[in-house]
Amino acid sequence: MRILVFAVFVSCYASDHPEPFDFIEDAILKYVNHSVDPCDNFYRHACSFDSPPNPIEASLESVIEYAKKLQNDSFWNKLEIINNFDLQKMYTLIGDDESAADFYQGVFMKICETRSEMVPELVEIFNILSTYPNKQVYKVYKKKRELSGEDCGVSAAKLKETILENLSKNQIRAWQLAFGFNLHIGDFIALLKNIRVHLDVDVRQGINGVRELVISTVEAAGNLVKDTPWAKNEHVVAKIENITSQLHIHDNYGKDFQLAVDTLVNVEKSFVLCKTMFGFVEHADLFCFLIGARTTTFPELKSFYFSQADNGVNFHPSVAFGFPNYYHFQHGREMATKLGYTGTTVGHEVGHTFFDNELLPYFSKSVEDCVQNQFSKTCVEFQEASCATSFEFLDENGADIFGVQVAYKLLQDYYGSKITDKFERLQMTHEQSFFYSYAMSFCSGNPSSVSIGDDGLFEGHSAHNVRVNVVAQHPAFQKAFNCPADSRMMKSATKQCHIYGDKAPETRKRRH
Ligand SMILES: [Zn+2]
Repeated sequence: MRILVFAVFVSCYASDHPEPFDFIEDAILKYVNHSVDPCDNFYRHACSFDSPPNPIEASLESVIEYAKKLQNDSFWNKLEIINNFDLQKMYTLIGDDESAADFYQGVFMKICETRSEMVPELVEIFNILSTYPNKQVYKVYKKKRELSGEDCGVSAAKLKETILENLSKNQIRAWQLAFGFNLHIGDFIALLKNIRVHLDVDVRQGINGVRELVISTVEAAGNLVKDTPWAKNEHVVAKIENITSQLHIHDNYGKDFQLAVDTLVNVEKSFVLCKTMFGFVEHADLFCFLIGARTTTFPELKSFYFSQADNGVNFHPSVAFGFPNYYHFQHGREMATKLGYTGTTVGHEVGHTFFDNELLPYFSKSVEDCVQNQFSKTCVEFQEASCATSFEFLDENGADIFGVQVAYKLLQDYYGSKITDKFERLQMTHEQSFFYSYAMSFCSGNPSSVSIGDDGLFEGHSAHNVRVNVVAQHPAFQKAFNCPADSRMMKSATKQCHIYGDKAPETRKRRH
């Protein structure tokens, strides 16, 4: 009987599994605006103002919903340490040093009166709790002997005084310690949730495919370096290769998952144990939370390596990509759209290593000028809500140009002379679909804009429409869409910028 129920349950879930689909092809069919000429404004031709704010995330909504449902019973939704955490209560009780010291005094009093034999250990606990980072003088600890045997009220008052003194010396406040701990746990939970989405929807094949793509991209970029005159003249080809060969995709979800589970289980176990011990104390949950915050050492684990968002990251030597990239690499129907969407993203992230000032201290004024000139011309011609081309944008702009160039090379290698063959479903050539797919990764119905960060500087990524319309400088774009020289796209195109390769200009070592 049990087995039967189980079988019904499973088949019910299986039928909920959304059919795999190619969201890039779908987006091209849905959002291309044929009343705008691709040679006039490619971005708004490929992506009409009627498009959703983020078509890729919108189209994957049902897939993510499906995967989220499967996590309802996961242990990370039931952690006491998180479910018992009350932000408001925390601010009220330990929002400043004085109240934090009061809070500790109250806890001490209660324990001293109820379980006086715990006092020596307790002093040490408060000692640790009130001094952070580690290297502070343990002032309370020295008074341990003095404290035991004393009246609880007298001890508590003395303790408060010392705690207050300790707290005031700390660089961060007690509430910040608790807040940071809460965020840190939240990060680990988010990582587990994200990895589970990758496993439940099962994009493992896509991850493997993107891993191969990273390898081919680094190889293609490496070939450009070998042909680069300045790299040869300065005898740095081997050096550059040595650095770029370290690049690899961070894709070991099994290892990350295990590490995050181990960490959370240990944190929860200590919290529950602490609450059992000090259950008789008022606000034991906050007290135990603070003990966890002060004593937990989290393993190095970057939660953004597995994400549901449509993005990529480079923390040299690791690169990683969002779930949509892996999903599309697995379910995309043409290599051209995979390269236009994910290939350009991989090229962009790999590009960041090639421009990293610390890793590769070379620069060419003419390459920088070339990149910035192109973005500036496109910005002037196509500005929507806002755009800008100051120095903050240089790295990202360079990575964009580089990414499209390398991905296009892979497209050429893959299709050879068939690159201009039309395919049925989209009624366009592979080459055209490559550029459309690139545009789709930036498509939004909202007017494109740049943003300013907390530091008052520009955030660094150019406006979406500008990032797409700079493809005008790639000779393949003009060819693919047969754009006349006097079209807006062509008029806004500069000469192609060659960052590496036989046409790359001279480069000098950067002087710091
Ligand atoms: Zn970037």
